[in-house]
Amino acid sequence: MPAEALVRVTMSGICNTDLEIVRGYAGFSGTIGHEFVGIVEEAPGSPDLVGKRVVGEINAGCGHCELCLGGDPRHCPERTVLGIVGRDGCHAEFLRLPSRNLLIVPDSVSDEQAVFAEPLAAAYGITEQVEVLPDTRIAVIGDGKLGILCALSLGLKSDNVSLIGKHPSKLAIAQRANVEGILLENAAKLKGAFDVVVEASGSESGFAAALDLLRPRGKLVLKSTFHGKPEWEAWRVVVNEITIVGSRCGRFAPALDILEKVLVDVTALISEDRKLEDGVRAVERAGEPGVMKVLLTMPR
Ligand SMILES: [Zn+2]
Ligand SMILES: [Zn+2]
Repeated sequence: MPAEALVRVTMSGICNTDLEIVRGYAGFSGTIGHEFVGIVEEAPGSPDLVGKRVVGEINAGCGHCELCLGGDPRHCPERTVLGIVGRDGCHAEFLRLPSRNLLIVPDSVSDEQAVFAEPLAAAYGITEQVEVLPDTRIAVIGDGKLGILCALSLGLKSDNVSLIGKHPSKLAIAQRANVEGILLENAAKLKGAFDVVVEASGSESGFAAALDLLRPRGKLVLKSTFHGKPEWEAWRVVVNEITIVGSRCGRFAPALDILEKVLVDVTALISEDRKLEDGVRAVERAGEPGVMKVLLTMPR
């Protein structure tokens, strides 16, 4: 077991995955939370990190399998995941992660921006898996936090990104960037219009809606972590030769670069900021309709 760094958390963000875990997803018990920014207190083997403001990649690998030696522990079979699998998370005053997971936050990036490194990395991670060119026609289904981040980050690579959702106020956040907002009720006429559809609504109907929107041989990117058994028509995937891509975690370095250059205005997604001691209420608030990102600030 390599020595791990100790990080004093300054701010964390509540994710829908936290809410799913509270409902039983992943069978995790422990401290939840995987979106954070903090200050390194101890870093055995990496003294340069001590005192630095950092964010951290959430998958901690074994360090010796082929994947880990290749520098990408995201699919290490023995991995733990901050606040999700076998490792206490960040809605707490302190957390531990391997030093190699930590990335120093540029000075110009505020805590409120840096705390979005994880979800932004997850959203932008789609571009690691699916080729996105300036003319790639992309629809993102779901105007929640994740859907908006997917649309905004894909909008950095394509000039043809649409966000489909039910909430005009949320679609407006995307519309301020390089993304077209489309109300779900108006999406039916776009049948077969997209090369790539990202399902980020977390609702079962998103599957069928995505298949309606995709052109033959299009790519369906599944971004929501469903813990039920959604029903969908597999024959449509076969007949239309659809490629299905599951997508989970992205790398943090490109996300920090996006934050430093302010290419995506993540602060538009913040609904409220609460104190850690108010954490239970904060998690409840994060699950209420219309509430976007709820942040937790730790005691000093
Ligand atoms: Zn998350
Ligand atoms: Zn490993």
